[in-house]
Amino acid sequence: MRAAVWRGAQKLRRALSGAGAGAVLLAAVITPPAFAAEDISSGLNTLQQRDELVQSIGWKLVTGNAPFCTDTRPAIGLLLQDVAAFVRPDAVRRAMKLSGDIAVQARAAGSPVEQAGLPVFAEILAIDGQSMRGLPAAGKERWQRLAELHRKLDKALVARGEVKIAWRSAEGAPIVSTLVGRAACATNFEVIAGSRRASANGARVAIGSDFAGFAYQEELLAAAIAHEFAHNLMGHPAWLDANGRSQSHIRMTEREADRLMPWLLANGGYDPAAGARFMREWGPGNDGGLFRSRTHDGWDERAGFIGAELPLIQRSTAAHGGADWALDFVRDIPAAAYSAASSSPIE
Ligand SMILES: [Zn+2]
Repeated sequence: MRAAVWRGAQKLRRALSGAGAGAVLLAAVITPPAFAAEDISSGLNTLQQRDELVQSIGWKLVTGNAPFCTDTRPAIGLLLQDVAAFVRPDAVRRAMKLSGDIAVQARAAGSPVEQAGLPVFAEILAIDGQSMRGLPAAGKERWQRLAELHRKLDKALVARGEVKIAWRSAEGAPIVSTLVGRAACATNFEVIAGSRRASANGARVAIGSDFAGFAYQEELLAAAIAHEFAHNLMGHPAWLDANGRSQSHIRMTEREADRLMPWLLANGGYDPAAGARFMREWGPGNDGGLFRSRTHDGWDERAGFIGAELPLIQRSTAAHGGADWALDFVRDIPAAAYSAASSSPIE
């Protein structure tokens, strides 16, 4: 029964996530009036766990590869939630035990925000002295206020390298934590409610909340996320915008993202061989998204390309103490400055 209710919620969430191409929908749940409180809680918890897993994998990848990224910034590993982004804010506020609107949605494992002890769903009271009570009301595009809050947080970290966050403990006491950013490659990770796809747009990696990789072991999901991250690092979305999305161009970018994947995994602390294992797990059962017969090589070929990088990664690591892809990875596509975000994400 609960599963059926949850499927209904997914359908409604899909309707919202279709609003506006490229809209940043930060894992909002739609909760129609008929839902019991326990269904809202279980939906929130499922989404929260997926958010936290994606943030944790993303964190390992962006901090582990920071020494080789040209575009880095300080990051603290915090994903916020805005209750106003939900259809029934009151019900969600009750389920998350909040009096305000802004809360901790996810903490990347090993990040400053996790080490500072901020719990899941902790209410955020102020950021750098700005009270969350003073935020403007959420507009028609409910997700926008949350996206703006993340932009401000990123800006503060770039400007000062740290940010002061006031939050409410489980006992109700206000606590102020100063979080010092760590160097990270400039890509954000998001779970998109109601989607099955994984995609990249140059600045962001989006993983659908229904993506099949959530059923896999962490290192295999990390491989799929590293493939998308590779598209951003290589500037593929903007390169395709500039050069055309022909089948051969897409195949070239897919192959390059596959080949870079194990380098990124190695620096993130994962087994680089997980990339090829992911392809063998994923390929035979999936004919959409990451694997498309006409624009992508077959999954067995893809596993082969990925495996062929392993000795190169080993050599690079022995020489430089890390898998220095900036120096040792051989590109298929002429390197150029294609770092801008694209309005057309690729998979
Ligand atoms: Zn791809």
